[in-house]
Order: sequence, then structure tokens, then C-alpha cells
Amino acid sequence: MADLKDIFECTQCGYCCQGETTVSLNQDDQKRMIEELGLGEDAVRAKYWRVSGNVVQMKIVDGHCIFYENGCTVHQGRPWRCAQWPLHPSMLSDKNNFKTIRESCPGINQDISYEEFCRILQELMEAEGTIHC
Ligand code: SF4
Ligand code: SF4
Repeated sequence: MADLKDIFECTQCGYCCQGETTVSLNQDDQKRMIEELGLGEDAVRAKYWRVSGNVVQMKIVDGHCIFYENGCTVHQGRPWRCAQWPLHPSMLSDKNNFKTIRESCPGINQDISYEEFCRILQELMEAEGTIHC
């Protein structure tokens, strides 16, 4: 039986929450985050989001996502792209993408072969559907 820990175990390094942009929030993400924070939409929008046209992202503070503080402080309400990271299904068909993501995420097993990684990820996805890390 495949085990997520065979291919990934988050080290909480925080690298994926750093940078000058964040993932975009779709409608479901926005709703989930509002519910998790227990605030009205206007308050969440003003305090936590950077809105440009139809694009909604989280604000950046001191070079990282506003919710990052020794880990994600909005874990249950985080965007689906954050929950999916770093096990993006595109890695199954793109070895270069796998290499790029593994280089940026120390939580991915650094010793496993690409073929073995794909076999386990595929098995997990078939058993669980979307994998939330
Ligand atoms: S919502 Fe959480 S997981 Fe996503 S970038 Fe912000 S701190 Fe990181
Ligand atoms: S998902 Fe990867 S990059 Fe992000 S905190 Fe965990 S180990 Fe670090």
C-alpha cells in the first residue's frame, strides 16, 4: 500500500509561502477562507487580499504570504492550490516539472527515482482522488 510519506513529508521550511506573489483564489477558495477566518467578506478583502481586476491573491508581508507565521495560520481555509502543493499531477507526465518542484521543495523525497515517485503518486491519487498535503 502506497504511503504519502514515501514520496513527501513537509519539513515546514516555508519556502512555498515566500515570494512577492501568491496563488490566486478562486470563488470556492474565497468562500472557504472567509468561513475559516470568521469575518465578513469586506473585512477579509481589506485585511488579507490583494485584488486586481478579477484576480484575488493573498497579501504579501515582509516577503511572504500574510498568513505565514512558522507555518500556515489559515490551514483549513487555505486555497486549493496551496493544499495540493507540491504534489501537482503534472509531474506524472513531465519529468522536468518533477525536477523543478523537487528542487524547490525539500519535503519531496530527494532520493527516490522519478519512476518510483510517479508509481506511488499515481497509486495515491487512484485511492484518494485529489491529494491534499
Ligand atoms: S495560505 Fe498558507 S499555505 Fe498558502 S501561501 Fe499562505 S501561508 Fe502558505
Ligand atoms: S511544502 Fe515543501 S516547500 Fe512548502 S513548507 Fe513543506 S517542505 Fe517546504
